[in-house]
This record gives sequence, structure tokens and C-alpha cells, in this order.
Amino acid sequence: MIEVNGISFRYQKDWVLRDISFQIGKGEFVGVIGPNGSGKTTLLKILSRLLSPQQGEVLFELVPLRRMGRADIAKRIAVVAQEAYSLFPFSVAEIVLMGRSPYLGALIFESRRDLEIAERAMEWTDVLSLSERSIDELSGGERKRVFIARALAQEPEVILLDEPTANLDIHHQIEFLDLILSLNRERGLTIIMATHDINVASEFCDRLILLRRGEIHRMGVPQEVITKETIEMVYGCEVWVDHHPVSGMPRISLLRVRS
Ligand code: ADP
Repeated sequence: MIEVNGISFRYQKDWVLRDISFQIGKGEFVGVIGPNGSGKTTLLKILSRLLSPQQGEVLFELVPLRRMGRADIAKRIAVVAQEAYSLFPFSVAEIVLMGRSPYLGALIFESRRDLEIAERAMEWTDVLSLSERSIDELSGGERKRVFIARALAQEPEVILLDEPTANLDIHHQIEFLDLILSLNRERGLTIIMATHDINVASEFCDRLILLRRGEIHRMGVPQEVITKETIEMVYGCEVWVDHHPVSGMPRISLLRVRS
């Protein structure tokens, strides 16, 4: 579904991504992990065409992203950015309806169908009861759900998530991740999620892309990517790797340097 062919990108002088290639199939749940500054956010921005690579190209169902119009991309790929906030105190319903804008064309007003789709998205993410509230009155977890609802209102095939669980407590983390997983498993949405949380990536993702200084260091199922040698090499700190007692997936624990 998504084919990334030899992309390299730089903001200024230094290359931030170098010769990145991979393919993602329809319905996959792929995690992008790697240390701070390794290029995760930049890669997601390229996949949504917020940025264009200086070298290589991204194909979406065999069509180069650079040949697709913005609205066309937004109908297929939705983004939930790291900082899910709004500068203006829009209501929840207004924000979710913004997800319909790629479909509105020259029309300014939403149709009954757009309103229904937005309402369903709010139901699915459990924010319907908040629909009249202003976005800036909500908790971090509620706000994240609103931005997922907006992404769903786009009726996309792919959702790109950048650090979706940062700043959420464990209850809200698991609630959010379960929602994403059900969108993936039940609705067949393709999910690409950048995360700092290696254990979350191991537990939820089918496949992982581990970035190191703008290059793919390793790519594969969590068992292939999350090994003691690989994580210690890429992150430069000592870790303990065992298996999650319930799921059996690889799990890392941090080790104190001083005992
Ligand atoms: P990650 O998401 O893995 O932390 P980023 O993609 O945010 O990594 O950043 C990769 C590199 O690109 C970093 O060195 C960062 O400083 C640099 N960078 C990110 N955004 C910009 C920007 N707008 N202008 C210049 N450099 C940037």
C-alpha cells in the first residue's frame, strides 16, 4: 500500500533521513521507534506529504504522493500530530467536522452525511458527550480522543500517529492504544505510529522500524528488533530484555548505572 523508495531528507545542511526504503501492507500496524532526533517525526511528515524528500519518493498504492493533491491525500491518510491542541477554542464538534473538509470542495457547509460521519467518529472515540465543550477545557486524554475522531471523520485508509501516548497516564494510555488497535483489527485501518515507548511498540505493533541517526537500523517483527544488543547499541544505555509474562512479547527494563 505504501512504498518508500530510497528517500533522503534535510531541513538545512545535514541529512536528517538517509536512503530510507520500506513497504507497508494494507491493514498493518507498524511502529517507528528510535532515539530522540533519529528522524521519526520527519519520516511521518514525509508520509503525509507535509514535507517532500529531496531524494527518493513515496508511493501510495503505486501513485507517487507528490502527484496527489492535498485533499486527495487527506481522504486517504490522516495524521494525529504530537501536539494535539488548537490555537482557537473551537468546540469538539467543530474540530471533528474539520476532518470533513477534504470532501467539501467548493461547498462551505457540511451536508447531513458529513454531520453523521462526524457524529459516528465521536461515538467511536467516546467524545460525543463532550461535543459542545471547548477543546481547551478538556484533559490531555480527552483531547487526544478528539483528534483521533477528527482523523476518523476523514474516513482515511491510513492513520499516522506521532507519540500518541506521551503525557497520558496508564489508564488513558491503554484506553487509547486499545482504540487504535480496534481501528486496526476491526476496521482494517493501516496504522503507523511513532513512539518512544519500546514496550508499547512491542506489545501493539505487527512490525517495527528502528531508526538510528536517520537510517533504518533494523526492521522486522518485535522479536527481531527488540534485542538487548540492538537496543543497547542504538540507544547507548544498558537495558534488560525479557518477555512479557502475559503476551510473551519482548520487554525492556532500564538498569541503574549506579547500584
Ligand atoms: P525524532 O522525531 O526522532 O525525535 P525528528 O524527526 O523530530 O526526530 O528530528 C530529526 C532531526 O531533524 C533532529 O536532528 C532535529 O533537530 C532536526 N529537525 C527537526 N525539525 C527541524 C526543523 N524544522 N528545522 C531544522 N531541523 C529540524
